[in-house]
Amino acid sequence: MARVKLILAGLFSLLLAPSTVAQEVITTDTHNLEEVAPGVYFAIGNGALYTMSNALIIERRDDIVVVDSHITPAAGQALLDSIRVVSDKPITALINSHFHYDHANGVPAFGSDVEIIGHEYTRAKLADDPMNEQTFLSSLRRFDNTVTRLEQELAEASHNERAELETQLEFWRAHVRAQDKIDPVPPTVSVSDRMTLYKGGREIQIHFFGRAHTGGDIGIYLPEEKILFTGDMLLGGISYMGDGYVSEWADTLQRLKQLDFEMVLPGHGPSFLDRERIDYVQSYYTDLTAEVVRLKGIGYSAEEAAARADLRQHADTLGVTQIGANAEAVARMYALLNGTIE
Ligand SMILES: [Zn+2]
Repeated sequence: MARVKLILAGLFSLLLAPSTVAQEVITTDTHNLEEVAPGVYFAIGNGALYTMSNALIIERRDDIVVVDSHITPAAGQALLDSIRVVSDKPITALINSHFHYDHANGVPAFGSDVEIIGHEYTRAKLADDPMNEQTFLSSLRRFDNTVTRLEQELAEASHNERAELETQLEFWRAHVRAQDKIDPVPPTVSVSDRMTLYKGGREIQIHFFGRAHTGGDIGIYLPEEKILFTGDMLLGGISYMGDGYVSEWADTLQRLKQLDFEMVLPGHGPSFLDRERIDYVQSYYTDLTAEVVRLKGIGYSAEEAAARADLRQHADTLGVTQIGANAEAVARMYALLNGTIE
């Protein structure tokens, strides 16, 4: 497997004022592994196959702990193969940031000897009926639709456009085929509030701050390195809210902010250092909650409220330039307000 080393100073030197933080990036066949601290790698798929989410590799003295496993067993296996480029040590534990398919469906690739750690809510979700979760089912439709659309585009494509469309089509067909192997595995160890791993000269803290993106999001915090892997409870922008607890989200992030970290590694998108982004999304979730309560009070249906919600005060910080909010999110907020779900 190719091992190409690059030094990326760009983003971090721009954002971190006095000192320049150079970050080594190791390119494998399927991933870019950013060495965010010695022996700690932020793993981002490089587009060779569909990974959808980010993962974290934490090397200890005698073994390796991984956080999240991507969207399919094939993507999970690609992550394992990429780990072998940087270390021969055995992988002994896998932490699930939350139950969503795109972070947890790669678990079977890790085998039955690896301890799987997740929040008790994540365990309950993955032990129950994850293949019938709305969020997972809508993703299957989305990928099927992508294949269908590309097939139609290819049928009508000019000679020059064909090669690119065929490449895209094969990428998505490979992903859809890989979904056949999905067999969700629940955590073997559950966390309710907090757990700390001390083995092998590396402190790894697992924190539940409250409900946010799901009922069981955990943050993985390395206090020595001042790094926080947030899964999807905190991204660089607004997270998916279809399984979320939007009215509680800002408070949850307020507790997250008590930790002393300098770098955020989100479940999607690039790492970031500017903590102001947390304020921006907190403010959005608070304002969306107030707006939905207001529109519901007037008597609008969830669909109407989603179409009318005006959050354009977040244009400068989060790029919200259109009236309207995510319909799935607003429908769920109505159900929570009505008490039809908990
Ligand atoms: Zn998620």
